[in-house]
Amino acid sequence: MSGDLVVRNARLLDGRLVDLLAQDGRWTRIGESLAADGAHELEADGRLVTAPLVDCHLHLDASLTAGTPRWNESGTLIEGINVWGELKPSLTEQDVFDRAHEIVRWSVAQGTMFIRAHADVSGENEAMVRGLLRLRDEVADLCTIQVTAFPQDGIFAREGDDERLENALRLGVDCVGGIPHYEPTSELGLKEVHRVFELAKQYGRRVDVHCDETDDPNSRFLEVMADDTVKYGLGGRVTASHCTAMGSYEPYYSSKLHGFLKRAGINVVVNPFANSLIQGRLDVYPKRRGFAQLKELLAAGVNVSLGNDVIMDPWYSLGRADMVEAASLALHFTYMSGRDEIVEMLRCATERGAKTLAVEDEYGIEEGKPADLVVFDAPSAIEVMRLHPARRWVIRRGRVVAETTPATTTLLGEPVTFAPPL
Ligand SMILES: [Zn+2]
Repeated sequence: MSGDLVVRNARLLDGRLVDLLAQDGRWTRIGESLAADGAHELEADGRLVTAPLVDCHLHLDASLTAGTPRWNESGTLIEGINVWGELKPSLTEQDVFDRAHEIVRWSVAQGTMFIRAHADVSGENEAMVRGLLRLRDEVADLCTIQVTAFPQDGIFAREGDDERLENALRLGVDCVGGIPHYEPTSELGLKEVHRVFELAKQYGRRVDVHCDETDDPNSRFLEVMADDTVKYGLGGRVTASHCTAMGSYEPYYSSKLHGFLKRAGINVVVNPFANSLIQGRLDVYPKRRGFAQLKELLAAGVNVSLGNDVIMDPWYSLGRADMVEAASLALHFTYMSGRDEIVEMLRCATERGAKTLAVEDEYGIEEGKPADLVVFDAPSAIEVMRLHPARRWVIRRGRVVAETTPATTTLLGEPVTFAPPL
């Protein structure tokens, strides 16, 4: 048998050790000791492999603008929105494309080959949505991008923003977004949620709403999203992002909400970098954590996945587009420290992300599916979450697209491996 590429001795998440054969960009055989004459060979040597990391929430239009035109000194969400509002009118399609393209390069180099991006469609400048749509189409061979039309300033606070959201759908975005808690009144927030669902139904798009990204326990638009998901028959195609108010809901309401979300089939996305740094800012001690109830949602059967959200932008001046770092941070803030929970957190950054993006037909290490793979320089999910290891190889459609040589460390001339002694 001949093939394009064979990966030898790869450790799957379920513990099996297999060879993987890719031909014409798809997995054609997965098994033990495969014959693969003529194929390019990679020796994984027992390293863990997974399907691609999935970044379910990333403001690619704002990435790499930190400090322009000024720094967000308070670190608050509101100052970030104000700084971004000052910068937005001057952005060009090419500028947005170039910065976002650089972040895609960082992402793929670290194994992230699926990204849901958000393009701000508030205000007159169309550079953000046009730049990201062009990027989506031009990098499709390397990375699958879905673009969400995101009305950062709401759709009812300024004349014309409602129309601009719809116009982004005509331009070809994949998802319609919203920000109901940011509308001037809760009535307008409700109206916004319904409008988002109407548009999704009318144009046949997915929904991804920034929902209840606040510490206000009275912000409860998520239950409205659940209700509309059922009414509009959009189960599996709806995502609620951030949902940080959930970190302040009391137990009775929380348990009722979990049931609603499960029944509606809504995906929830947690964004650990922004959530940990932005929420709880106005609290005196004791301070709240400001995370969606990730652990409890998983236990209730709700799909939860993760995003980088912010990378060197007005909200967060750090970041390097690594979904393993995002998962590790979420693990700590949501108490997912049990052995099985640590493994599950890596699934939140991989398989569960694919479910959120509804790309499962083209995702996964199975015969017939695209030959996309991440080879971690570690033997298990737990070691991945502990060490944040190099991605030894990143494979897209059967081709090695990124390679990292792991760093070596010595102490007094002796190697230090950061592994317990055998
Ligand atoms: Zn966001």
